[in-house]
Amino acid sequence: MLTPLRRTFRKKKDARRIREEREVQLPGTELVFLFQRDGCRTLRLSVRPDGSVRVKAPARLSLEQVLAFVRSRLDWVRAKRDFFASHRGASAELCEGGTVLYLGRPFTLRCVPAVRNASPRLTGGVLELPCLRPGSEKTDAGRALERAFSRWRLETAKLVLGHRLARMEARARAAFHDDAAVSRLTVRSLKRRWGSCSVKGDITLAAELIALPLPLIDYVLCHELCHLRAMNHGPAFHALLKRLLPDAEARENDIRIWSLEHPR
Ligand SMILES: [Zn+2]
Repeated sequence: MLTPLRRTFRKKKDARRIREEREVQLPGTELVFLFQRDGCRTLRLSVRPDGSVRVKAPARLSLEQVLAFVRSRLDWVRAKRDFFASHRGASAELCEGGTVLYLGRPFTLRCVPAVRNASPRLTGGVLELPCLRPGSEKTDAGRALERAFSRWRLETAKLVLGHRLARMEARARAAFHDDAAVSRLTVRSLKRRWGSCSVKGDITLAAELIALPLPLIDYVLCHELCHLRAMNHGPAFHALLKRLLPDAEARENDIRIWSLEHPR
């Protein structure tokens, strides 16, 4: 039984290997795309959030055939680029008077003196962060403000996400009539992902999540809680997620759009 398995694995690995890579311009247009040849059997065209275009083609197709295909999909490429361009926003401004998001709402950052026992305060649309040393100007806060903000975000995320996860965990158990439980929750800054779940049942969540509106945070939590019952993203997983959160698909789409509008 081992041999066929090994052969399949080799084939897959081989298919992924890039054999040729160069930039190609579609004649008569402005479109320049990254052209790659690999061992896959199908032609794949993709537009990335930064607007760059990539085409992966199997070795058997000629460049003319590839160009004809790209030309036939030109309207789709333009529409996709327009969509990404209109949803691309600026990232949060970490400076005195800058704006940060908490649970989907904007808060203005204020640097206040870092005196003894001073702690961050979130009131009336303002987030006060004690980060000013005696004698320093508000505009010089820079690194101290970044550190104070990261600390505030991590501490707040641990509280908010911990509380919310416990609530969703109870809801999931009631919905699925089981006792699946989270072994351990870790909250830390994650650059690319919102969360993950290990086979042992350890859930890791991004501290950055607390910028999102609550319904989107709940989507991420429910997604990871369903992984306690189904590890992959197969039909069984999606059936569970839909049972727990009937509008999961719409929320997932909203997260994608939100991520484009607020790059990390
Ligand atoms: Zn997942």
